[in-house]
Amino acid sequence: MSGRLQNKIAIITGAGRGIGAAIARAFAAEGANVVVAEMDEVTGTAVASEIGGLFCRCDVTVQLDVDRTIHETLDRFGRIDILVNNAGVNVFHRPHEMPRSEWARCMALDLEACWAMSEAVLPDMRSRRAGVILNIASTHGFKIIPHTFPYPVAKHGLIGLTRSLGIEYAAESIRVNAIAPGYIDTEIARDYWAGFDDPAAERQRAENLHPPGRIGQPEEVAMTAVFLASDEASFINAETITIDGGRSALFHD
Ligand code: NDP
Repeated sequence: MSGRLQNKIAIITGAGRGIGAAIARAFAAEGANVVVAEMDEVTGTAVASEIGGLFCRCDVTVQLDVDRTIHETLDRFGRIDILVNNAGVNVFHRPHEMPRSEWARCMALDLEACWAMSEAVLPDMRSRRAGVILNIASTHGFKIIPHTFPYPVAKHGLIGLTRSLGIEYAAESIRVNAIAPGYIDTEIARDYWAGFDDPAAERQRAENLHPPGRIGQPEEVAMTAVFLASDEASFINAETITIDGGRSALFHD
């Protein structure tokens, strides 16, 4: 199947690599015009030129960048059909050892920026009574792994944001959903394993935690994003879809 997002205008944050880049490629393959809203000019430009999209240099934690991205998108395409809040960072500490600045860094990117981007696209979506917002949350959004504070606090909040906005704007035909990936094979995960004495063993441990005996691939998240952003998901709202090979359904004995 192709053309499931034909002529849709989609902004994807952090689309220079990892899950965001996979979503950008999948959206473009389905006919969308993609705006790569990425902080890193090199990776952002590369993905945008590969898929024929528009690169907007955007640090989503900076309001001026957010406003410029929306402005450039509307200037070029005249509307915004889809926003994917994907940019995010792992901030992992034991709570009592965490410098306060780390709390702020995590909340600014993993939660507040998602609201800032949503707030910025809402006027256009509301005026046309149409739109889709998709938040890339995490299984940390409803389960806790010790020593990963405050990342799960932000991701719980992001699921709360998803449900709040989904309910608030449902009557205006704006759908707001989230995806909660488990372990996905991207740089963020590889950086995490690199912090262990034996990164390969830690990766293997992560693979073994999942019932299929492997972690996920960014493309597997991207195909769910295509579905949720498309009209096929027209009655799915304020919902979070988990992509973790069943790990969070597993009862450890
Ligand atoms: P990556 O670190 O591979 O990619 C994140 C991208 O976001 C990078 O291109 C990064 O740019 C960009 N970015 C970082 N900060 C900003 C910013 N302030 N403004 C704009 N762009 C920014 O991460 P993943 O692809 O793995 O993760 C994507 C999302 O998925 C995140 O929200 C993450 O929390 C979530 N997730 C990931 C999981 C995983 O196992 N990989 C599991 C569950 C959820 P730069 O290269 O410059 O840093």
